[in-house]
Amino acid sequence: MDVQFLGGAGEIGRSAVLINESLLLDFGMLTDSPPQFPVRTPSPDAVVVSHGHLDHVGNIPALVSGDARPPIHWTPPTYELAMTLARDTLKLHGGTLNCPFTETNVRRVTQVSETHGYRESFEAAGYEVTFYNAGHIPGSAHVLVDDGETRLLYTGDFHTDDQRLVSGTTARPDADAIICESTYSDVEHEPRETVEDRFVESVETTLWEGGTVVVPAFAIGRTQEMLLICEAHDIPCYVDGMGKEVTEMLGQYPAFVRDADALQRAKSHARFVTGKDGQRKRITDQKAAIVTTSGMLSGGPAMTYIPEIRANPMNKITMTGYQVEGTPGRDLIETGSAEIDGRVMPVSARVEQYDFSAHADRDGLLEYLESYRDTPVVVNHGDRCGAFAETLREDGYDATAPEVGATVTVY
Ligand SMILES: [Zn+2]
Repeated sequence: MDVQFLGGAGEIGRSAVLINESLLLDFGMLTDSPPQFPVRTPSPDAVVVSHGHLDHVGNIPALVSGDARPPIHWTPPTYELAMTLARDTLKLHGGTLNCPFTETNVRRVTQVSETHGYRESFEAAGYEVTFYNAGHIPGSAHVLVDDGETRLLYTGDFHTDDQRLVSGTTARPDADAIICESTYSDVEHEPRETVEDRFVESVETTLWEGGTVVVPAFAIGRTQEMLLICEAHDIPCYVDGMGKEVTEMLGQYPAFVRDADALQRAKSHARFVTGKDGQRKRITDQKAAIVTTSGMLSGGPAMTYIPEIRANPMNKITMTGYQVEGTPGRDLIETGSAEIDGRVMPVSARVEQYDFSAHADRDGLLEYLESYRDTPVVVNHGDRCGAFAETLREDGYDATAPEVGATVTVY
């Protein structure tokens, strides 16, 4: 198989892997200003998508332009998330060069969509393809591609540890070659329970003291994880932003979450913010946690909450995910002030950072790859792919880290 990396090699964002010019795995976008897309838009016979994050599905509607109507294969939650993200991109960038598709393209995606569960093999562009639970977000999949001679495993993003929302991956299908993500290849996460305990204690302390806690969280996965934690520890909470819609949607796919009853309880426990009649401003003086997008303070209702709570040192802002350089969230952590809606605002409220990662860390990646000792490994999806491939080679693996645009042949 000839495997070309159209994006997501040696970088995070715009993932796109093309097999023999006919089967495309993922077609994402890199959020930046301006956004970046895969190096070219191919005309595949079929498309298979690993999971519903912007850097893996963001540019999918661009594949159904002109006469092209390749079937798009994914799990049901991935399909739903892709549609939510596409509509959001249209809202943010529609009609500009920063949006390479139109509303018509997005509608066509529905017509060519084919959904599959885990471990149900299907045919795509002449290959036999199977999804395995990747433990990253609901619906996330490892993708096994079999052409009858070679079995290629594309890990997509994955986590080896359990989160409250999804269990860690346990699937280790036989493969002749593996494309492995490496987002946190040089990081060791603090144990999840420890992170959660620190977070809960911090939030509870602030609420007891009469403060409000704003919890910026990514809409997909992280918001639901935070709501599950709030329910488990009986922390009063509100939820706002795109995470509301995603929470409602995931409730319809119990087979793709770890504990559907727990998610249902978390949904009932949280108060959904409508934003009507100045509700947002009103709830900022209540002793509650407000879980809201955007996770990096670059938009969403967080833009209303932060200015309201920032001046009172009794309040708190708890960042729950990685903050990309140049985002207001990163600036806030590093400098104590952030640019919100074009205004630089000093923040007296306390700011904290918690690592609720949905990716395997260094030990998790190595543990996963232990099952693939004799399998050539192609490292992608990371800022330090080359260094991780080197580590693997020193450990006896056949490992490489191609650059964007490169083609590797696997047997
Ligand atoms: Zn992801």
